[in-house]
Amino acid sequence: MSRATRADINLSALKHNLHVARANTQANIMAVVKANAYGHGMVEIARALSTTDGFAVATIDEAMDLRESGVYQPILILEGFNRVDDLRLVYAYDLQCVIHNEQQIEILEKYKPTVSEKGLKVWLKIDTGMHRLGFSPQQVSTMYQRLLSCNIVQQPVHIMTHLACADDKDSNFTNLQIKCFTESMEALSLGEDSHISVANSAGLMAWPDAHANSHWVRPGIMLYGSSPVMQSNADQFDLKPVMTLKSEVIALHDIKKGDGIGYGQSYVCEDNIKVATIAIGYGDGYPRHAQTGTPVLINGKQYPLIGRVSMDMITVDVSPAKKLKIGDEVILWGEGLSADVIAEHANTISYDLFCGVTQRVPFYYSHAG
Ligand SMILES: *Cc1c(COP(=O)(O)O)cnc(C)c1O
Repeated sequence: MSRATRADINLSALKHNLHVARANTQANIMAVVKANAYGHGMVEIARALSTTDGFAVATIDEAMDLRESGVYQPILILEGFNRVDDLRLVYAYDLQCVIHNEQQIEILEKYKPTVSEKGLKVWLKIDTGMHRLGFSPQQVSTMYQRLLSCNIVQQPVHIMTHLACADDKDSNFTNLQIKCFTESMEALSLGEDSHISVANSAGLMAWPDAHANSHWVRPGIMLYGSSPVMQSNADQFDLKPVMTLKSEVIALHDIKKGDGIGYGQSYVCEDNIKVATIAIGYGDGYPRHAQTGTPVLINGKQYPLIGRVSMDMITVDVSPAKKLKIGDEVILWGEGLSADVIAEHANTISYDLFCGVTQRVPFYYSHAG
């Protein structure tokens, strides 16, 4: 690899973060590895998380890849299936499905199973306020009964919901969702062996009531080392960054006061400054909307990004640096510079940054630290 730009994935940090999740709940852990494990590489991440109790993904294709890579734990498809043909795959790969709309129940009711197809494991999703997937509290008992009447569905039927605002400690919405979920469940008079699941990372770390009675939690972002809660940082939760995005200095220039830098000349130097050009841009997944002032870590010190992010490069004001030279390593986010901080400067969230790293960037996996 001739270009220095790379993503280092620290699998020891990942395992550490799984321990943090375990230490904060009695429930089983369903590690969320959708979207290529939040851009970290699903198969490698799943292998490193071999001690988790289960996995969750968004799609059947993701679940199939996971199974084919040797995962033996339960795998839950968070969006379930959409058509009859999908259901064949769900059986063939021994997958669990979220049931969130009536179409899915109709498919189950009409389905003609082969002799080997039985005992489909399903999770009925209650919409407790997110209004994205799931049945309203009014619908849920009818749907529950219909599922119980499907002879291809394995009993018990499990019950879940998803929290919309758990990352905001000041919002009361999570309490309302928990209350709604509890009441809806009581109305179902579930069997004792039905499993329940509510909490994502934020629910796990910030809302004990969201998993006090759960069999499963579904952490995603915290496993990758970002803070699950707004206005908190990962250190406060003892979470370690898994991805470190790196590049190097490829040019250094002294630029005069009054000169502009980069496309649109949007940044005009207020002084004579020293500018380092770094080999990373939005073509690698560095956010194009990172503002002037976004920190960049070079030789252990932070310097501000200046001017527009281009496809292959960014420019940084390194005026205070004494010994900086071409070839010096640069950290864009990860160890020493949280992706949460970069996300804030780019008006997004770390999930988006991780998922956005492009194919041009080679990934290196290690157990360092
Ligand atoms: C993505 C997702 C999660 C994980 O959320 P994090 O905020 O990354 O912890 C949990 N449950 C569902 C239904 C999801 O879609």
